[in-house]
Amino acid sequence: MNKTSVRTLQQFLADQDAYHASIDGVRGPMTLAAVNATLQRHASQLPDGADGWSDRRRAVACLQVACQQNTIEVGPIDGLWGPQTEHAVEVLDTLQKTGSKPTPWRDQPTLETNPNGWYREAELEQALGSPTRKPPLTVVPCPWRLALAWDLGTSPSGIGCHEQVADSLARILERVHDHYGPQRLRELGLHRYGGCYNKRRKRGGTRWSTHAWGLAIDWDPSHNKLRWGRDRARLARPEYDTWWRLWEEEGWVSLGRTRNFDWMHVQAVKL
Ligand SMILES: [Zn+2]
Repeated sequence: MNKTSVRTLQQFLADQDAYHASIDGVRGPMTLAAVNATLQRHASQLPDGADGWSDRRRAVACLQVACQQNTIEVGPIDGLWGPQTEHAVEVLDTLQKTGSKPTPWRDQPTLETNPNGWYREAELEQALGSPTRKPPLTVVPCPWRLALAWDLGTSPSGIGCHEQVADSLARILERVHDHYGPQRLRELGLHRYGGCYNKRRKRGGTRWSTHAWGLAIDWDPSHNKLRWGRDRARLARPEYDTWWRLWEEEGWVSLGRTRNFDWMHVQAVKL
C-alpha cells in the first residue's frame, strides 16, 4: 500500500462524506477514524475477526470495500494487499481521476500486424527446412543483463535466434530497454531468460516446436508455467502491457495474449 493508494482511499472517504481533511497520502488519525466509521457501516461484508485487524489492514479492507462498491473485481475483503487488490485499487484511482474505468487490459485486442512477414506455423518446414538440421543462428546481444532462468548465476552473452528474426529481435530489445530501464526490467523478472533455440517437439505434441527453428523465446518460465492462465502468470499482469505491445508491433505472437497459456513464450511465427 503506497502513498497513491492512500490518496485513493482518502478520496473515497471524502466522497462518502466520512473524511474532511486533506488528500495528502498520509494515513493519519483522521484517515483512520474515517476508515473505522466506513467499515462499521459495511460490517456485514467483513469476515469475523476484522475488529482485531491492524490499522493498515483495516485501511486496505476499506479500499477493497470501495472497489466492490464500484463493481471492480477485488476478491474477498480480507485487508491483504495482494496483486488483485493492487490492480483493483489502480482501477479505482483511474475511475476517481477520469470518471471512467480504464479499458480492461484483457479486452484490449492484441495487435494484429505482420511487418516482417513472419510465416505461419504450417509453412515453417517448407520455408525454412526441417529442423532436424540446425538452422542458421545469430546471437543478438541483450541491452540488459540476462540470467539463465534455471541457473540465475549464469549470464548468457545474448539470444541465439534464427538469423531471419535477429534484426527484429534487436529492435524489440532496444525498445524494451528504453521503456523500462535495467532496474525495472529486473524487478519485473525480465532478466530471467528461458531459452530460444532448442531442437525439440512441442510439449505434449508431435509437431516441431517453433523453438526448433530458433523462432521463439521463453521468459521467466518459473513464474509463467505452461498451463497457467492469466490469473496466475506473472507476464499477464498489466505492467507487462507495453512489453507485449513492443513484441506485437514487430509481428511477434504471445501465446499468453492470444491463447491464454504458455505466457512465457513469444514467437516470430503467426498462429
Ligand atoms: Zn516457448
